[in-house]
Formats: sequence, C-alpha cells, structure tokens
Amino acid sequence: MVHVKSGGDSGGLAGLRLSVAAMRPEVLNPLFAETASLKGVGPGLARPLEKLGLLRVRDLAYHLPERFVARRAVANLDEATVGEQIVVALSVREHRSASGRGPYRIIAEDVLGNFVTLVYFGRAAFTAKKQLPAGETRWVAGRLDQFGQSLQIVHPDHVSTDSAELLGSLNEPVYGLSEGMTLGRIQGLVQQVLSGLPALPEWIEPGLLQREGWPEWRAALAQAHKGTNAEARDRLAYDELLANSLALLLVRASNRSRTGTPLTGDGHLRARLNLPFELTGAQKRAIAEIEGDVAQGAPMLRLLQGDVGSGKTAVALHAMLIAVEAGTQAALLAPTEILARQHAETLTRMAAGTGVTIALLTGRDKGRARESILMGLVDGSIQICVGTHAIFQEAVAYKHLALVVIDEQHRFGVGQRLMLTQKAKRTPHCLAMTATPIPRTLTLAQYGEMDVSRLDEMPPGRQAIDTRVVAIERMAEVVDGIGRHIAAGGQAYWVCPMVREQETADIAAAEARHAALKERFGDTVVLVHGQLRPEAKDAAMERFARGDAQVLVATTVIEVGVDVPNATLMVIEQAERFGLAQLHQLRGRVGRGSQRSTCLLLRGDALSEVGRERLALMRETQDGFRLAEEDLRLRGGGELLGTRQSGDTPFKVADFEQIARLLPMAHDDARLLMERDGGLASPRGEAARILLYLFERDWGVQLLRGG
Ligand code: ADP
Ligand code: MG
Repeated sequence: MVHVKSGGDSGGLAGLRLSVAAMRPEVLNPLFAETASLKGVGPGLARPLEKLGLLRVRDLAYHLPERFVARRAVANLDEATVGEQIVVALSVREHRSASGRGPYRIIAEDVLGNFVTLVYFGRAAFTAKKQLPAGETRWVAGRLDQFGQSLQIVHPDHVSTDSAELLGSLNEPVYGLSEGMTLGRIQGLVQQVLSGLPALPEWIEPGLLQREGWPEWRAALAQAHKGTNAEARDRLAYDELLANSLALLLVRASNRSRTGTPLTGDGHLRARLNLPFELTGAQKRAIAEIEGDVAQGAPMLRLLQGDVGSGKTAVALHAMLIAVEAGTQAALLAPTEILARQHAETLTRMAAGTGVTIALLTGRDKGRARESILMGLVDGSIQICVGTHAIFQEAVAYKHLALVVIDEQHRFGVGQRLMLTQKAKRTPHCLAMTATPIPRTLTLAQYGEMDVSRLDEMPPGRQAIDTRVVAIERMAEVVDGIGRHIAAGGQAYWVCPMVREQETADIAAAEARHAALKERFGDTVVLVHGQLRPEAKDAAMERFARGDAQVLVATTVIEVGVDVPNATLMVIEQAERFGLAQLHQLRGRVGRGSQRSTCLLLRGDALSEVGRERLALMRETQDGFRLAEEDLRLRGGGELLGTRQSGDTPFKVADFEQIARLLPMAHDDARLLMERDGGLASPRGEAARILLYLFERDWGVQLLRGG
C-alpha cells in the first residue's frame, strides 16, 4: 500500500457549496434580507437571533410557534385557579434580591390583597426591575402556580402598563426563545415580517389545494402564527417536502442525461479475491445491482444502505474492482482521516491477491510521497485511491476515474455530492454508503434521487450485544465494572449525551466525566468531543484504535466511528435522551470482534413513557431497520424532548408525523410535475423554481441551467 498525505483538509466539504444566490428570483429578495434590516433590531438582538438561527427574514417567517396559550383576564386571584394562564392587575409591593444562586423575587398584590410572588432567574431580573417599580400597578400575564403555601408566577410572559395590549392577545403564540430574546420581541418581529410578505405564485396544484382545504402561501403563514391551524401547518410542511422531492428528482434527471463510462468487468480480479468468508445473499444482490448500473451509459447513482457490520466494505471493493477490470480507476471517500486509513488498510488486505494498487491520500502533510501518488493517479498505475475529500482537490488529477464510492453518506449533503461528481469530464458512477438505517419514507426524503440497495441480512455468526438498562444511581458499580474490564485488557466507550441547545454545558459534562474516570484509571482514558481541533480528535481516536488508550469518553462524535474490535463495552449516559436510531448507531461500535459485547444504557430518573419504550426496544432487538421504523413511530407520537436533533431529517418545517403522512404525496406530485414539465418552464414550473429557492434547494435549479 502506498500512503501519502496532502495539504489542507480538515473542515469537511463546506467549502464546496454551490453559490447561486445571485440567480435567486427577485420576488424573494425581501425574504432573504438579513433580520438585522428589520425595524427595531439593534446590535443587542443580533446574538439572540443568531442563536435561534434566525438570520434572514424568511427564517423568522418560518419560526413557527411551539404552542399557543389561551389566557383569561381575571379581576383578582380568587377568580383564577392554580395552573391557569391569566392576565391580572397587580400592585408591586417589594423587591427581594437574589441570595446566592436563588431567584430574584418581586412581591405583588391583587385588588383584594392576595399576595403573589413574581419569580425571575438569571438576567431576566434586570428587565423585571425596570418593568415593575415598587408602588406601581401593572398588568401581568403568566401562569399562576403554587409554591408551598404561596402563589407565584415564574417569568411572567408579559408585563404592561396598558391592559388593552395584553387583553388584545388573549390567545397568543409562544415561540422558541434564546437568552436575551423575549416573547414580546419575537412576536413583534414576526408580525413585522408577516405584514411585509411578498405575493408568490402558487406552486401547489389547484386540485390538491382544494381537496385538502389548504390556504395560499401567505395566508398559511399568517394562520400558522395566529393559532392552531392544522391545514395551514400542513400546507407549509408540504411546501418544504415538495421542494425537497423536486430538487432530488431534478438531480436524478440531470444525472440521467449525463454521459458516464459504461463499465463491464471480465471478473478476472474478483476471481482472485481471497475473502475469508462467503458473501451473504444481500451482498451478492447489491453487487449484482451495481454491476447492472455501471454497465449503463448514464452514471450510476446508488445508495447502499446497511447497518453497521453488514459488510458494505466488501460490496464497495467488488464495485471498485469492476471499474479496475474495465481499465479505469475508482476512488473511495471517507469522512475522516482515520476512517480513510482504516479503509485503505482493510481494502489492501482484502485485495492482496489481485495485484491492484491502492493508495491512501489524506490531508495532513505533503512531500515527495504525495507527489508520487499524484503521479500514479495521473498515469493510472494507482487504480484505487482512498482518502478524505483531499482526493478531489484541484491538484489531484486522475487518468480515468470512473467510480466514486462515498462512505457514511449522511455527512454529506446532496449539493456536496454533486460537486464531487462534477470533477470528471465524464460523470463517474457514484455509490453512496450509509450505515444509518432510516425508515423508508425518510430514505425517500434524503436520497430520493438515488436507487437503493439494502443490506438487510447480517453476516453469519454475529453475537448479540448484551444490552442492559441501568439506573443512574448505580454509577459507582458501573465504574467498578469498567475497572475490571480494562484490567482484563479490554477497551470501553463511554458516551455522554449531546443536546444541541446547550452545547457548552454538554461538553463541560463530558470533560467532567473524563476527568473523573482519568483520576481513577489514569492516562488510559481519552476524550473526544465536537469542539476539539480535528488533530486533537484524531490523535485521541488513534490512541484508542491502536489500543494505547483503553477508555474513550466521547460525545456523539463517535457515531461515525472507528472499528475497534477489542472495544467490547459501551456505557451510554442518559440514554433516554437519544433517539432510537442514534442509540442503535452508537451501540454498533461494539460487537465487532469475536468476543461477547455489552452495552449499558444508563438512565436518569425522569423517564418518560416514550423514553421507557425506547430503552425497552433497544434491549429487545438489534435490527436497525426495525428500530428506525419504531423511532419514527415514537417520534410521530409527539414527544418533544430530543425530537429535533440536528441531522435527523433534512427538514425544518415538516415534523415527523407530517413527513410520514405528506411526503409520499409530495414525491408523487413532484414526479408528475417533472414528467409534464421537466424544464420547469410552464407557469407552475416557474412557481416551483421560486419554491426551490425559498427552501434553498436551489442546487436543483442550478442543474437545469448547467444542463
Ligand atoms: P460495514 O457495513 O459496517 O462497513 P464492514 O464492511 O466493516 O461493515 O464489515 C464488518 C465485518 O464483517 C468485517 O470484519 C468484515 O470482514 C466482515 N464481513 C463482511 N462480509 C462478511 C460475510 N459475508 N461473512 C462474514 N463476515 C463478513
Ligand atoms: Mg463501514
């Protein structure tokens, strides 16, 4: 195996984004203006808006309420019940400063002399001090609670001198907030945005609109912000799903019209493969499907979906050997250096008898070795190149690259996928591999432009992973267990949860866990999390992969991880916080060797019904596709916590239930539109283009122009 590293790759494929803002239809310009351009948005709101991801006017338009509160105006507290949302006039009596970490308290009184405490945590107290001067009367809106013997309102939603203002919005939207952003502020901004929405042409078929009783776009946004309105919400979700399907189908159509290199291998290299196992039926099927695809004139666009350990590498190798047999080259793209290195080693081992030259090209350093690899790719003496996206840099030229395999597909967006295949004069065949078993509907949403092969059969002899749910109180026993495990020469993963809302707090938790385990077990404990520099991360991963470190404490970054067969124990902290699919993915890191593996799911005490069901399912099955379907079902059930972890779906508006219900419809609709008007030239086609830009699926339109 030849090994070389090339310069400057660490940041993923972010630099490869298609830049098309210049071609956006003008009618959308007001929607893509920055939120900073809105009236009343000063520098003070920049951070809070950014934290909520509300950078442009369109983001605010689609920042839909989490829920609505219906309040009741009461003359006094006797008229209200505990737990009720009320508006009431209160006279402010006294301020009590926070003592230590306690909250700031304001004692107030209604017209009958009933006392109620207004409670503020953190910085919210500053505003409260100004809004509620002692001796004055104010209208206060919020939920009346009871704490011990006394009544309280924690963080009132509104405080006002003017009752009309509050009484006028007795049913009001509640939005996701961030530090420094109040409900009133965001409501005002949303109203400002809604009143300035441009009129857009209709992209939904009139018949469908009528049948579903959906409002037109502008009305749908207004209604969705105003009250619980299922039709309006559905229409907005449908828009997003339609945009997505349409963009994927445009990619597919464009790919169909490209010229690829038809590949037929005579099998002489594959015959010399000396694999220590018989291929599974699923592997054979997938290889046959690939062989059929690459023999065609149009480039292959195929997804290989298979659970961790289902044997995707062997399938990829067969595909690449077909390309080599046909006299061309193949490249395998991995998301990280360490995975690239592992692939190169595995493939070199597997292909030892074939005489095929495999090179590793990553982004760490340069030199003579790199030059010789680049030469080998140009003159064709290297037939298979494995690497990070460095293998697609400008300086890297191939004699005849005809197949690109992309591992761990979900790390790359469709736009990036496109850039990769645009490098060659003739579009290479593309095989994307993903270890995330997602439900069929989501496969359509994420990979609708591809044909799919599923490895739904595991290689024989896999041991079940002994999965147990352990209460967090038994932490000490678990740590003792780790001690025994590593004393016997084993390795273990310790996974800490990552909840997007508070990344810094999560990292602090992981660091604390690492420190505690390190104090007990010493330098054999290493830490990996998302905010480490890539080199530091790789270094820790490598120590673990080599066996120099025995315990890897990690946030979910190990999800796309390394293959360490000796790691047979995994602890997942606060397991109830993860989605099923994610838990499954994590657990797949163990059970890779011949030894029996164990997965301990540590659960907190506040376990919801859905959380309980999830953990039970994890114990019950190891079938990734089944877990994926169950995951969708449980999420559709409306659990809030953890439903929107990043990367779960490509959607921001459509929720899980809507995806399951509306996506098949949207996909059919998109297909019909493509059949009738593949160039999007009709009036409805024009409207659909606007839709694509609105949801930033503009790479679809880009392809129409580029041809
Ligand atoms: P993944 O799909 O996660 O990439 P790998 O390709 O890494 O899975 O395969 C996992 C393990 O299973 C490897 O050690 C591989 O050699 C082995 N393997 C692959 N196919 C078979 C098979 N048909 N029979 C037995 N073992 C297999
Ligand atoms: Mg793999």
